[in-house]
Amino acid sequence: MPVYEYRCEKCKAEFAFLKIKAGDEPVCPKCKSAQVTKKISSFSCSGGVGAFGGMTSHGSGGC
Ligand SMILES: [Zn+2]
Repeated sequence: MPVYEYRCEKCKAEFAFLKIKAGDEPVCPKCKSAQVTKKISSFSCSGGVGAFGGMTSHGSGGC
């Protein structure tokens, strides 16, 4: 289950949000704004994965 990172457009706070089910919408933990922008998490691999656009058929092998 991927953790997504978001940045609030209002107060610029950055936070991680774990989307558990469809329909879950992140809100800023500071100001409760729903105007947040998703950032692409680079997971914990070095170099960052170009995972924009969702999963590829690449197996997520060990880092
Ligand atoms: Zn905020």
